[in-house]
Amino acid sequence: MYERLNDLVSEISGVGPKKQVALNKLGVNSIIDLLTYFPRRYDDLTVKKVSDTNDGEKITVKGKILNVPTLTRYGYKKSRLNFQIVTTNEEVISITFFNQPWLKKQIDINQEVAAYGTYDKMRNQLQGMKLISNLNNNSFDAIYPANKDIKATAIKQIVKAALDEYQEDLVDFIPSSLRSHYLLEDFNSTIKNIHFPTSPEMAQKAVRTAKFMEFFLFSMRMQLLKHQHRVKKVDSKIDINQIEIKNFIDKLPFELTESQQGVVQDILADLGSEYSMNRLLQGDVGSGKTIVATIAIWATFLANKQSVIMAPTEILAEQHANKLANLLAPLGVNIGLLTGSTKPKARKLLLPMIKSGEIDLVIGTHALFQDQVEYSDLSLVIIDEQHRFGVNQRNQLSNKGRATNVLSMTATPIPRTLAMTNYGESDVSIINELPKGRKPIKSAWIKSDKIESALRFMRKQLSKNEQVYVVTPLIEESEAMEMKNAVAIYEKLKNELGPEYKVGLLHGQMSNEEKDQIMQDYKDNLFQVLVSTTVIEVGVDVANATTMVIFDADHFGLAQLHQLRGRVGRSDKQSYCIFIADPKNEIGKKRMKIISDSSDGFYLSQKDLELRGQGDLTGLKQSGLPTFKIGDPIGDLNILTVANLEAQKIVKESNWQRTQENVQLFQYLKTTTKLVVD
Ligand code: ADP
Ligand code: MG
Repeated sequence: MYERLNDLVSEISGVGPKKQVALNKLGVNSIIDLLTYFPRRYDDLTVKKVSDTNDGEKITVKGKILNVPTLTRYGYKKSRLNFQIVTTNEEVISITFFNQPWLKKQIDINQEVAAYGTYDKMRNQLQGMKLISNLNNNSFDAIYPANKDIKATAIKQIVKAALDEYQEDLVDFIPSSLRSHYLLEDFNSTIKNIHFPTSPEMAQKAVRTAKFMEFFLFSMRMQLLKHQHRVKKVDSKIDINQIEIKNFIDKLPFELTESQQGVVQDILADLGSEYSMNRLLQGDVGSGKTIVATIAIWATFLANKQSVIMAPTEILAEQHANKLANLLAPLGVNIGLLTGSTKPKARKLLLPMIKSGEIDLVIGTHALFQDQVEYSDLSLVIIDEQHRFGVNQRNQLSNKGRATNVLSMTATPIPRTLAMTNYGESDVSIINELPKGRKPIKSAWIKSDKIESALRFMRKQLSKNEQVYVVTPLIEESEAMEMKNAVAIYEKLKNELGPEYKVGLLHGQMSNEEKDQIMQDYKDNLFQVLVSTTVIEVGVDVANATTMVIFDADHFGLAQLHQLRGRVGRSDKQSYCIFIADPKNEIGKKRMKIISDSSDGFYLSQKDLELRGQGDLTGLKQSGLPTFKIGDPIGDLNILTVANLEAQKIVKESNWQRTQENVQLFQYLKTTTKLVVD
């Protein structure tokens, strides 16, 4: 019933090849694309009283021209058209149009005109944007995002033509119970009113419904994808040896937190089911994700299958290898480490052992999914710090096993609903507490002229036999500059703190062997202060390091600062973080206040997104969130949340596609989505 909405825009009379190409460039190919090509804003052309208007506000005024309009030309092709009117409210105001000299011919003294523009209160002047001929028809006007190939007004005409032609096809698809519960408008009115409203209220209502629709359809599609991917794969099911798993957990040097226990249960249930696992584990830095992964590996080993862990950096892979070897090697688990810097000789030995299944657990970087690497019985794939990998890299690895279970782990804490939209295809588990006894990290922000106090504080910590990280400025353009900076700070600290305390240096231009050696020496407390660029950002775990000093902290995003700070606070000792920054603007100052006041990753990432602003699409893109046409996943989080819940509820019911209530919804999804749904 919705097939016609997939017609190409060229079906509309007035859309020739040229306009079609222009529309395509705006992402508009089909009729439904066009009808959901929403206005960017509305100009309110209702006439207003000048005296009620604030400076800088946009208004429409109407009245009689008092003098002969004067046109002044200046500069290259520049002009200014000037005249005064007395409004219908008996107010006098002067109006100026820049660079629209042709308007001069359209107006004259004593003529009635209306103009829309920005009000300058000081000068009692309107800077005109639009001269309006017939005001009565459209006092509230939708403005479309356009480009140089097609004008906003042309788009509007095309939308109008499409609406006339395709009205009948806009059959409502939101289940009627939802529509009445959330007071939504029907499909037809929503589309009509969003493009051609006659009042702000009308537009607002339509926008609200359109947002709901967009989020709801998005969530429905995600749910369907998830079900579609939930294929039964007999191979992915493993036998869960509850007794040996419990033994392992009981022998750990600490007790699992409640969240950790819950997540372990989720994972074991996945592994023991005939569906392959596709789970995202979110947990703030230091919440103990690694041990959860280790238990999953142990369970897989007990069922005689292989596991891999993929980490984003060699430092991290190595650290995992050491940790897991401590825990698992004594129990008979054979572990192999495979990274970019694994020597050809070692590699040659390792590959056949992975292929034969002699190796039970392979730990490494993306080198793990190179073509030559073959597995014997790969069942579990763990991706640590998964936000660091591209989608392709993630898929490549899981395709290696015929029926792999995938556990992705991330510390990028985004609110749960957002996580669901972002990773809608996965199940999501969350560790929402830190291990017992952890003291919240104490943070402070100081200006760079107070650097002496930071030094004093470092000395105090060092005298307690604790270690210190110093993070040097992030320089986006050049790793070489970054290194130079790091070296300078390293030299300075060596002078200040030596010879009593030893200082080490780590930066991105070092070879991997060098980096590993330095990390190992730092762990072994061979030196007490580690000066480093952001290469230490992810995952590194040195429990005796209790203090971090971050230079030029305002150059980092909140999420990144939080990750960095997460390198300390990894034991029951009190930890500290000092941010050194001289932020130049208000937002920068705000960020420094927020980060030094809170250590809640979820709160911080929410704030980070807010500060980046809703309009900042690159910010949103970097955050990995999907982009929507009209809904704003941050500003409209409430709508997103309910739309998502409702979609989940619907899909949970068996045979939902066939119930009377959902017939249209199902049809609509089927017709406008490439999903195979049945
Ligand atoms: P992340 O979630 O950031 O990857 P890790 O897995 O590196 O955190 O864990 C941080 C530290 O906390 C590790 O040293 C780990 O051994 C320790 N840890 C994990 N779980 C617990 C627990 N339940 N109680 C005490 N310490 C724990
Ligand atoms: Mg980790």
